[in-house]
Amino acid sequence: MLHPDKHGYYGEFGGAFIPEMLHPNVEELRNNYLKISRSSSFKKQFSQLLKNYVGRPTPLYYAKRLSKQYNTNIYLKREDLCHTGAHKINNTIGQVLVAQQLGKKRIIAETGAGQHGVATATVCALMGLECIVYMGEKDIERQAPNVARMQMLGATVIPATSGSKTLKDATNEAIRDWINHPDDTHYIIGSVVGPHPYPDMVARFQSVISKEIKKQLKLATGKELPTHVIACVGGGSNAAGAFYHFIKEKKVQLIAVEAAGCGLDSGRSAATTQLGTPGVLHGSKSFVMQTKDGQVTEPHSISAGLDYPGIGPLHAHLYKSGRAVFMSATDEEALSAAFELSKLEGIIPALESAHALFALHKMAFKKNDVVVLCLSGRGDKDLATYIKSI
Ligand SMILES: *Cc1c(COP(=O)(O)O)cnc(C)c1O
Repeated sequence: MLHPDKHGYYGEFGGAFIPEMLHPNVEELRNNYLKISRSSSFKKQFSQLLKNYVGRPTPLYYAKRLSKQYNTNIYLKREDLCHTGAHKINNTIGQVLVAQQLGKKRIIAETGAGQHGVATATVCALMGLECIVYMGEKDIERQAPNVARMQMLGATVIPATSGSKTLKDATNEAIRDWINHPDDTHYIIGSVVGPHPYPDMVARFQSVISKEIKKQLKLATGKELPTHVIACVGGGSNAAGAFYHFIKEKKVQLIAVEAAGCGLDSGRSAATTQLGTPGVLHGSKSFVMQTKDGQVTEPHSISAGLDYPGIGPLHAHLYKSGRAVFMSATDEEALSAAFELSKLEGIIPALESAHALFALHKMAFKKNDVVVLCLSGRGDKDLATYIKSI
């Protein structure tokens, strides 16, 4: 585990760069998130919901045919089997419980592809809380099934109609809403991004992934440490969760895989550590894909969850310090890895997770290595994309 300092910095990255008007909201959270999440009533509720609602612990599955293919030992951490089909719900459950303890009655979120919106709407339905999800008008058109899901779950989806009508504009609307409702509203951020304390809070909620891996690996192999842990990185929450309890174990190689989109040199990519420079995005200092004068560049990835021009500050630090190896996979490479896993193991992965799977091609593993790969989500949501490429 790696915690930020009291100002929310991991090395030189992190912090809280927010408008003055938002200080009271963020301050309230910062002053309370640790106390709440360490209380025994929170722990009890959180672990019971993870068990009985999400379906945890998720299996750590020894992928026999995939292991044979790469001549090593590959275990898949099956976050695709979580309720709603991905790891995101671990975090939304944690945050909704914090919000309840803070006496909040209203939950807001912003979403791009709709995955985080659905995870948020799900936990609001579970808890009987009002849920408002801001979404770019363009994304509402592109992501109709997720909009329908959110509405069916009782959420109100509000279109962001300014600017490029996408995630960035939805984020602005959500921040405006939060400023106007400081007392009764909690803003659920969906990855290890945003101002302190969000990156740390989200990493802690997702850390259940590596906590389980350790225990399950010990049962399966007699040792609790793998040689490698691989995860894809959009903002970096599934990777933070999969790495968390291994960060201090220097013998465990951590491998983060970003989306190269059409290729690193194509101008259509989302590989932030490869193409970005230090800057401030969404309230914290990290690597950002931007022009020389600080305009954020439009990212591209075939997978909506990785199509983000930044990366959480924890990952910026893991990259800069060399603790984690960062690599990237293109759209085409991710597609090929998704088809490979489907045929070899009978598991259709999310396109995001398929990027992590492609890292298997790029690495040279030894026969006795123990590789754990975080399969962050299932591929049902990506079927339309897969069908196009068959
Ligand atoms: C959202 C999403 C991601 C990317 O988010 P992180 O915060 O980087 O984990 C990865 N995989 C799936 C299945 C997702 O839905």
